[in-house]
Amino acid sequence: MGMNLYDTARGEVVPFQPGPKVSMYVCGITPYDATHLGHAFTYLTFDLVVRRLEDLGHEVRMVRNVTDVDDSILAKARDLGIDYQDLAAREMELFHADLAALDLRPASAEPTATGSVDGILDLIGRLEAGGHTYAVEGNTYFDVSTWDGFGSMTGLDEATMLAYAADRGGHPDDPRQRNPLDFVLWQASAEGEPSWDSPFGPGRPGWHIECSTMAMAELGETIDLHGGGDDLTFPHHECEAAQSEAATGVPLARHWMHVGMVAYEGTKMSKSLGNLVFVRNLRRMHDPRAIRLALMAHHYRAGFEWFDYDIDEAVTRLDRLVGAARRPKGPNPAPTLAAVRAALDDDLDTVTARDAIDLLAGGILAGSGEDPTAASGLASAAALLGLRLDATIPESWVRTT
Ligand SMILES: [Zn+2]
Repeated sequence: MGMNLYDTARGEVVPFQPGPKVSMYVCGITPYDATHLGHAFTYLTFDLVVRRLEDLGHEVRMVRNVTDVDDSILAKARDLGIDYQDLAAREMELFHADLAALDLRPASAEPTATGSVDGILDLIGRLEAGGHTYAVEGNTYFDVSTWDGFGSMTGLDEATMLAYAADRGGHPDDPRQRNPLDFVLWQASAEGEPSWDSPFGPGRPGWHIECSTMAMAELGETIDLHGGGDDLTFPHHECEAAQSEAATGVPLARHWMHVGMVAYEGTKMSKSLGNLVFVRNLRRMHDPRAIRLALMAHHYRAGFEWFDYDIDEAVTRLDRLVGAARRPKGPNPAPTLAAVRAALDDDLDTVTARDAIDLLAGGILAGSGEDPTAASGLASAAALLGLRLDATIPESWVRTT
């Protein structure tokens, strides 16, 4: 009994069987721009995992980091003429407000890269002592040729790894690297960038080493579940796994979980294309529970295209659920609760879970059944999906049919 989840490293759905206490590390945001639907879909997915694990009786510690120093945040702060830490603080406040509106559980801890520099330097020191690093012109790199397991988490071929590295923040064409797949652990800061003194020269951390450090500092050398968006599989998570295991000799994660990407009406959603759908704009106009419902129409691994009318469909669906939860009687809700739990345990099948609560709501609204616990059962089943049907909400959101 328990959840079955797809593990990226094994390439199949497997039983997820942690102990009573579960450690989860989910890669967080670089706080330089607003929360978009891709972020919401990723963090909703892990929120549902946390909720179901707690429902199963586990105690979950979920850590989500903040990448508060990197190229993108420094560039944006420079454009705005403000300090990068002020930008990070401002964006984190907005991010938290968006996540709270979506009723996503707060993280147990939210470590920052800038607050973890001592640990990062310790970890690089261990890698250096193990012969896994080399230094060129003030940069220290991880030498992938010293780690046989490199590539084994994602199982990608070299050409794909190179393409992903070029596309996702790596620098395979950096002539200082011995191998194009090597990656920077510590880098010399450019003029005007923040810089820390270190045994590797003045500079700032590379991206991947930050998450390895924060994950192990908060949760230990091997964590139960490590996750993030699908675009983090390579290079980010492969590099994290390689350097962590090279330093400790044990696997960084027992289970890897990745969430599909959200596109917008046929096009990849991206900052450069200017077509990001922001949570803040959606929740200005709609009950945020409808955003949750709309996102749960898609399996987390599939990725999907968002269409503007998706939110309207979800608002109608929410109205029906809220209306049904106010009725005095209906069908026996026990099979619905069982169906929702079974769907979540089946690789987080939110589509089937959502259909199950719709079916019960339909029965209640149709006047079938005399069970006085129908409405409270519906609310309990919806709560497994993080939907509060008993919350006080504006009357304007509720249709009275
Ligand atoms: Zn990360």
